[in-house]
Amino acid sequence: MGHSEPLPLAHVSDESLAGLRAEFAATAAGHDEAASFPHANFERLGQLNLLALTVPKSHGGLGGGLADAARVVGAVGGGEASTGLLLAMNYLMHRTLSANPGPAYAEIAQAAVEGRGVLNALQAEPELGSAIRGGLPGTVATRLDDGRWRLDGHKAYATGSPIVGWWLVLARAGTPEAPLVGTVLVPGKAEGLRVMPTWNHAGLRASASHQIELDGVVVEAGAALGFHPPGSPELKARRATVEIWNGVLIAALYDGIARAGRDWLHGFLHTRKPSNLGAALATVPRLQGVAGEIETLLLVNRTLIDDAARRADDGTGLDPLHAQQVKHLVTHNAVRILDLALSITGNHGLDRASPLERHYRDALCGRVHAPQSDTVLLNAGKAALGV
Ligand SMILES: Cc1cc2nc3c(=O)[nH]c(=O)nc-3n(C[C@H](O)[C@H](O)[C@H](O)COP(=O)(O)OP(=O)(O)OC[C@H]3O[C@@H](n4cnc5c(N)ncnc54)[C@H](O)[C@@H]3O)c2cc1C
Repeated sequence: MGHSEPLPLAHVSDESLAGLRAEFAATAAGHDEAASFPHANFERLGQLNLLALTVPKSHGGLGGGLADAARVVGAVGGGEASTGLLLAMNYLMHRTLSANPGPAYAEIAQAAVEGRGVLNALQAEPELGSAIRGGLPGTVATRLDDGRWRLDGHKAYATGSPIVGWWLVLARAGTPEAPLVGTVLVPGKAEGLRVMPTWNHAGLRASASHQIELDGVVVEAGAALGFHPPGSPELKARRATVEIWNGVLIAALYDGIARAGRDWLHGFLHTRKPSNLGAALATVPRLQGVAGEIETLLLVNRTLIDDAARRADDGTGLDPLHAQQVKHLVTHNAVRILDLALSITGNHGLDRASPLERHYRDALCGRVHAPQSDTVLLNAGKAALGV
């Protein structure tokens, strides 16, 4: 990109996104190797006003929709995957919070516009696993006499833990006989919030997705975004937008990772000229066929993402289940694409000097994000059978 001017519009050019991808790719291997958080990438995104892409214009943001967010996440994630994941979550959380802006949102939006204060959710827990399968979170929110809330619990996979400004923490309240579930906004620097450096993973190594302990964290009354009985219509309605944006943005991230692998593969097939062949590998029909299979899977992914994002943005309506199916299909295709690339690159692909093995390790994480495929397919089957 080569300049530090903030981007004035949500419609960011393909050229500028390609520049940003190349810039982030330059340090991605180092962050993967050291499992170091990519602070500089977030400073850069802040300079370019891209942390505020989905902050409404009424709050000083760029007012971008899901299609804009998916394009940026795909490009950024293709450069450095952990940056893309946290950016995706930040976009999703701004979309969710700004739909019903509470008293705290003005400050949160302002932070994004100023290039700081990234948002993320703390849903999963070590005991519970994914919150999307049902079951009550073990994290407890207790109403204090003065109206404030106290939080105690243990959360897992806290992506972006070094820089997140506010966490949207899933917690339970009420009584054991009549439990309630809801979300509470917790500042990243709240007293009693402790990050435990547990993340040492095969993929997304730079994401700092550590565990977090909440020990007597006290927040203002307005930080609670509403508690409702599990399975209630209010919770389902609130989750619909989250599921749509989560499904499409997770898909966009892993599609971006697969495209980065495809690009490296093409360079390799053009430059590698084994002496037994006397020509570039790109001239071999068998390898051309594999490259074609990869292109076809990428076409499917692009079509699925673009169609879903357009329908979500233009008000045609997108069923949350549809977004889940897109997440399932695209993340599986991403793993398949990178597996195909590895299958025709021999030692070169698996060598840690190449980015392909890192893209593959990163892509494996796509299957783990909620909703996992067994849940998606069960939901799709029930809907199809009307049961
Ligand atoms: C890189 C990365 C970053 C993440 N960042 C965040 C984040 O910032 N915030 C956040 O809240 N979450 C985050 N997650 C969590 C993610 O979305 C999932 O919710 C979480 O990983 C699921 O928990 P688990 O992997 O411990 O699986 P578990 O729930 O322990 O499940 C383990 C296995 O058992 C299966 N399983 C579990 N329960 C059932 C069941 N009832 N029926 C059938 N099969 C079952 C699962 O399919 C899985 O294969 C992140 C995940 C990844 C990979």
